[in-house]
Formats: sequence, C-alpha cells, structure tokens
Amino acid sequence: MQLQQRMRASAHTTASKTSRRPLLCRAQAAATTPKVNINWDNLGFGLQDVAETMYVAEWSPEKGWDKGALKPYGPLQMMPSAQVLNYGQSVFEGMKAQRSAKGNIVLFRPDRNAARCAAGAERLSMPPLPTEQFVQAVADTVRANADYIPPIGKGSLYLRPLLLGSGPILGLGPAPSYTFTVFGAAVGAYFKGGQLTPIDLIVEEHFHRAAPGGMGGTKAAGNYSPVLVTQLAAKKNNYADVVYLDAKTDTYLEEVSSCNIFVRSGKTIKTPPLSGTILPGVTRASIIELARSRGYEVLEEPVAVTEAMEADEVFTTGTAVVVCSVGSLTYRGNKRAFTAEGQAGSTALELYTALTQLQTEQAEDPFGWVYKC
Ligand SMILES: *Cc1c(COP(=O)(O)O)cnc(C)c1O
Repeated sequence: MQLQQRMRASAHTTASKTSRRPLLCRAQAAATTPKVNINWDNLGFGLQDVAETMYVAEWSPEKGWDKGALKPYGPLQMMPSAQVLNYGQSVFEGMKAQRSAKGNIVLFRPDRNAARCAAGAERLSMPPLPTEQFVQAVADTVRANADYIPPIGKGSLYLRPLLLGSGPILGLGPAPSYTFTVFGAAVGAYFKGGQLTPIDLIVEEHFHRAAPGGMGGTKAAGNYSPVLVTQLAAKKNNYADVVYLDAKTDTYLEEVSSCNIFVRSGKTIKTPPLSGTILPGVTRASIIELARSRGYEVLEEPVAVTEAMEADEVFTTGTAVVVCSVGSLTYRGNKRAFTAEGQAGSTALELYTALTQLQTEQAEDPFGWVYKC
C-alpha cells in the first residue's frame, strides 16, 4: 500500500465512529455546533474520540523546519534506529481547545506552551520550533478538528504537541532530523457540573521525580515512565497519586506526577519555587496571578512537608484538572484531612471557578490569556 493510502486506512479505523468529512481547515464551521457522532455526555480522558486530523512538520539540517501540513491521524514512520526510540529525545505539551460562551473556539495562553516546548527542546539538544509556528500549528489542528470540540461545559479537545528526534543514529548524539506533530482527542470535563471531588495524596518517601541539574523542569517524555511505579503503588492503596519531595533533603514539597501543588494558610498561598526540578505549569503561573488579583498573598517559596500537613488547604493545578482540591495528605503513616468528605476546599473551588469562567469567556479576561482560534 502507498503511504498515503495506509495513513488514510488507519485514520479511518481510528475514527470509524465519525462520518466521512473533507479534511480541510474549516474556520467558518468552527463556532457552530459539532457534527460528529460523539456522545458528549460520556467523554472520558482517552483516545476513544481521537481527532481525525493531525499536524506534522519536519526538520532537516539543510532546511530547518518545513512549513508543516495537516494530514489524517495515523502512524509516523520511523526507523528502529530513530534517536527517540533509543535515547529518548522527546518533549510533549498538553493543551486544550474549548468552546466559549461568546461562541468562539479558544485556547489558553498557547504562547506559554510554545515557550516551554522550546526550552525543553534546548535542554534536550533539539531544534526548537518558532513560537509563531507552534501556535499556528496548534490553531490549525484545532480548526481542522472543530467537530471534535465538545459543547461548552462538556469538555475540550485535548491537544498533544510532540517534538521528537525521529532521525536515525547509532552512537549517542542528537538526531540528524526531527518531527513535530500535534494530535488531539475529545475529552470530558474533569469535574462534571463544576463539582470538584477532592483527591487523597500520599507523600513519596523512596523515589524522587527529579534532581537538581536534571530535567524535571521540562516535559521530557523520560520524566513520566519512572513515576508510574510509585503512582500505581499509590493507586493500589486508594491514593489518587503521590507528592514528591526534594531529592536533596527530603524535606520540601516538589509536585505531583503531572500537577503542581499549592498550600494555603489563611489568606496566604505558597507554592514551591521553580528551581529547575519542578515543571513550570501554565496553570500554576496563571493561578498565582489570579489569586493575587483576588486578594491572596502568594509566595513562591519552599514548602516543608510538615508545613503542608498543618495548612488549611492544599490543591493541585494542571491543564486537565485546572484546580484540584486535595482531601488528605498522608506522610509517614499520618493522614491529615483538609476537607469534609467529598467537599472541595473553598479556595480551590473559588480559583477553579474563576479560572474556568475566564477560560471560556464567561468572565472578563483582564490578563489577555484567552486566544481565539
Ligand atoms: C504538565 C505538568 C504540569 C502542569 O502544567 P500545566 O502547564 O499547568 O498543564 C505540572 N507538573 C508536571 C510534572 C507536568 O508534567
């Protein structure tokens, strides 16, 4: 089979639930009601409703980044000697496109994801994508898949930009060529009806997520498989996830496997500073500004685990969850509950509501964070 045909065939099997439509950029259709046959009330966080169009750009030493193109969602071709498969040159991003109250299709601070992707690329000796191309690629992918964006309040089109050392190499070194791709999937609202269910977390006392001088501050693929062993063990014991401590002293909070962490005492909110071992979350940065604008004092300072155990409230932040209330923290066998059973903390709820309303144009955006596709 020709490559083109094969890609089409595979795109058809993955998107078999959807009707056949031309794979064109459809800016006009963008703000209308979606047409694909997706059960919007039953969206999970998975690939069952993967978007049919992806974006692919290639980098070569002669030409740099090409202008990229939209194509049917399908396999990327790579040799077994691809750098990424052997030595792991790979960074990813996580973003979401939503329908807004004003009928727009919106992204949230995509320039931030572009900058973080570029910083990760530099750390892993990969050619960074120019910010404009990154944002354009994501917006093009969103518009081409407008039918996969759920109605307002039902979820989002989750987007996964990926930068890979796809070229072949045998000895350790950077790849001779690179691939940048963006794919997406319709996913559900994390908290249906604005209800935040608090999660139980356990402080990890054996493994560390990142070390000073390492790459914890990047969304490098290699940061994520090592946390599975702790995450799976925690889940077995009915914890949603673990909180990591600093690798040097085992004293201070770092973050959760894929979320940043905040603790509140009175009107003061603290979150660990970005010292290279913590992922600089876009939601983290936004919550810091938003909380300050709402009268909280927000400090980026080391937070001792003992201090967290005494706090009034703990919550986590990330693109998918936005803000997630922490119901309890367990450390050295002691469990500290922060909220009444099933009830979100007041500040988590306040900031979740404020940020999601801003993101979906239900509230003013004084910061200029909302990006219209
Ligand atoms: C992606 C991620 C976050 C959250 O970042 P956002 O930009 O807010 O989505 C936090 N911690 C880790 C380890 C992550 O991978």
